[in-house]
Amino acid sequence: MLTVNGLVLMQRTLGEQDRFIDILTADHGVLEVLVKGAGKLNSKTGSATQLFTYSELCLNDKRNGVRILNSVTPLSVFYGLRSSVSAIALASYFSQVIRYAVLPRSGAPEILQLVLNCLYMLSERRAPETKIKAIFELRIASLLGFMPDVIMCRSCGKYLPEQLVFSVSGGYFCCEDCISSPEDETGLIHMPAGTLQAIRFIVLSEPKKIFSFAISERSCKPLYQFAEEFLCYQMERKFPALDHYHSLQQTMLPDT
Ligand SMILES: [Zn+2]
Repeated sequence: MLTVNGLVLMQRTLGEQDRFIDILTADHGVLEVLVKGAGKLNSKTGSATQLFTYSELCLNDKRNGVRILNSVTPLSVFYGLRSSVSAIALASYFSQVIRYAVLPRSGAPEILQLVLNCLYMLSERRAPETKIKAIFELRIASLLGFMPDVIMCRSCGKYLPEQLVFSVSGGYFCCEDCISSPEDETGLIHMPAGTLQAIRFIVLSEPKKIFSFAISERSCKPLYQFAEEFLCYQMERKFPALDHYHSLQQTMLPDT
């Protein structure tokens, strides 16, 4: 028997009443678990193993390569997610990123903590979705070993240029003056100093503090663009849930 705390990242139904779930745990990475009878009406097991629920799960030893759930107690349910389609789309994007990532062998406690914090912020609407999304993207990129180089201008060594250019593929920045009119602007994101400070804050501060920074309207747009492009570039893939999130944003734009 193995007892773990796990966050349900994905579920697939199997036959009439059973389902497989993928859970993210601190010490064992992602585990696949068979939940028998999850689809039965009023099943307690079913509700405690729903998507994005964080629970304590007792798992039977593997039989024929499959772990079967023995019992489960929900710890955090994130009810607030269910009232927002875009929050659900973002949560699905977070879970796709984690499922496609190669998690550290030593376990993923910081990744679990990050996604739980982001789901809490989304569920309780403690911050704008776009900000939570950017924090998740930059922080998880760093935890997966892709931290951007935020120390100084790669060319002249300046710490905080007023205007700078961040390279998505190179993961470094230069002052705008140090870039000698590049012919190809693809993958270069222009930003003010405020955006660089926000990126530094997200990748360098303690896990508990990552949400506590203010950012001006002028500085947010390049932050959001850089965070998304940087993570997708480093992971070398597209995420269907991210496309879905963007299509929801389009339909929610006010008519002009
Ligand atoms: Zn420079």
